[in-house]
Amino acid sequence: MEEECIFCRIIAGKIPADIVYQDDSVIALRDITPQAPTHILIIAKEHLASLIELGPEHRDLTAHFIYVANEIAGKEGIAEGGYRVAVNCGRDGGQVVPHLHFHLLGGRRLSGALG
Ligand code: 5GP
Ligand code: ZN
Repeated sequence: MEEECIFCRIIAGKIPADIVYQDDSVIALRDITPQAPTHILIIAKEHLASLIELGPEHRDLTAHFIYVANEIAGKEGIAEGGYRVAVNCGRDGGQVVPHLHFHLLGGRRLSGALG
């Protein structure tokens, strides 16, 4: 756990969050500033700064993010309409919180723009 990291603090229960799912390796919670009717962050429990830190030892975790996103999409009722899974990596990728997380967005027709 990184003391200064907001997501580590949420994982440690020091900051409240609307948690929708968790297991040994990830926690999923509603984004505080939702960009769509469903906007959930799937966050690694291990403090990894970004996507670039994923190596071969994180093969299972990497796949797990996608399975969890699909599972939550089903539970949130957005699977049929469709949804987006996105990761911002680093400054130019638009990442603001330097702790690895995937965004799950849905519930409205999302724009085609990615940047
Ligand atoms: P990034 O731009 O790093 O990919 O996304 C960070 C996301 O974390 C943003 O969508 C932002 O709204 C969300 N966020 C930042 N601080 C908090 C917080 O304290 N609680 C929750 N639930 N979401 C947060
Ligand atoms: Zn962290």
